[in-house]
Amino acid sequence: MTIKAQRGTKDILPEESTTWQWIRKQAQNVFQNAGFGEISTPIFEATELFNRGVGDSTDIVNKEMYTFCVGGADKNASSITLRPENTAGVVRAYIEHNLNRISPPQKFWYFAPMFRYERPQAGRQRQFHQVGVEMFGASEPAADAEIILSAVELLNSLGLNNLSVELNTLGCKNCKNDYREAIKEVIKPYLPDMCDDCKMRFEKNPLRMLDCKNEACQKIFEKEEVKKVILKDYICNDCKEHFDELIKYLDSLNINYKINKMLVRGLDYYNRTVFEIKSESLGSQSAVCGGGRYDGLVEMLGGSPTPAIGFAMGVERLCALIDKKEPEKLDYYIVSTNTAEAIKLARKLRKMNKKVDYDFQGKKFSKQLEKASKIANFALILGDDEIEQKFYSVKNLSTGEQVKVSDINKL
Ligand code: ATP
Ligand code: MG
Repeated sequence: MTIKAQRGTKDILPEESTTWQWIRKQAQNVFQNAGFGEISTPIFEATELFNRGVGDSTDIVNKEMYTFCVGGADKNASSITLRPENTAGVVRAYIEHNLNRISPPQKFWYFAPMFRYERPQAGRQRQFHQVGVEMFGASEPAADAEIILSAVELLNSLGLNNLSVELNTLGCKNCKNDYREAIKEVIKPYLPDMCDDCKMRFEKNPLRMLDCKNEACQKIFEKEEVKKVILKDYICNDCKEHFDELIKYLDSLNINYKINKMLVRGLDYYNRTVFEIKSESLGSQSAVCGGGRYDGLVEMLGGSPTPAIGFAMGVERLCALIDKKEPEKLDYYIVSTNTAEAIKLARKLRKMNKKVDYDFQGKKFSKQLEKASKIANFALILGDDEIEQKFYSVKNLSTGEQVKVSDINKL
């Protein structure tokens, strides 16, 4: 039996990789123009990093992690996990390399594979990719605006101009607690009717209940008295001021947004601003981007208190939204039955930064020309006459026009 790719994983073949390279290039431009440096962290980390850094009331930690025990029965056996997201790893690196010594804010971007053991479906894989940013050392609302702006700028650079940002504030340690308690109080009578996940969240992280996709739970959030609590402003003056200022910046930048009080985001560590960017045309897996502020995480993972904010976008979902890019053609395909000359010429032209290929299997001239017309802009014909009289016949494969060239440097 032939071996197939694992469920929920996908090969990216050359024809598709043109689109991928383009997305990566757009991200690199947008982020580097905004002062973000690229960071690459390992794809596996100590399991504990995610338990603590993503949070043990999240679906990611509870259900979706690829966790292995390495070292067998050895005393030093340790548990490692393929990263399900990148924030925890970047925070670990930030602390480990004392990146706080660089004057703040420190800004990073990445484009990298992530792993979650989820049920594969359209827009949901087990190995997928995220492109995202993290910024440390800035607590000002302008930092939130800058992060949301860079997400929007990336989407715009990909030709995605009509996606709306959904926005909410979760408040800070103090007001978040009041909100949590109020939600718990109003939900408590309905708890027996809620799903098992929400029963667990009720104890560990009640706000996460609002994120539940279960219909029975959703119905409870629709109840008048529950809705009233969800929609009521519990946030303190400082948090309100922060949010209002952020909104002023977004207005001044003409960024479309919608405030959504139900938006709590999946991770445990968010505070204040959270946001999501969705596209209706993606169907049920509609989120292309999720992000938020996580001011407590660096300290929680052993660093000094450092405000931080970031986002991640799903690259496969971006791919589904943009037009496929056609692979670029070669500049030249050398058509020759003299392999020794063709190989030398190919080497020379490639050094001149031309895209060049040639036949080294002794195929007939006509076959070589046929191939050339499929994959190259020009055929560079090197027959006996050309070699003897030291010239090249260059055939434009879209017009059919053919000229003689004596100096390769003038191609
Ligand atoms: P969802 O609600 O779709 O599960 P999430 O809240 O789990 O999203 P985040 O952790 O915020 O997702 O990740 C940011 C982005 O990464 C998502 O908006 C989505 O575009 C993408 N993403 C997340 N999980 C997957 C997956 N399993 N396959 C493909 N893309 C994914
Ligand atoms: Mg998810």
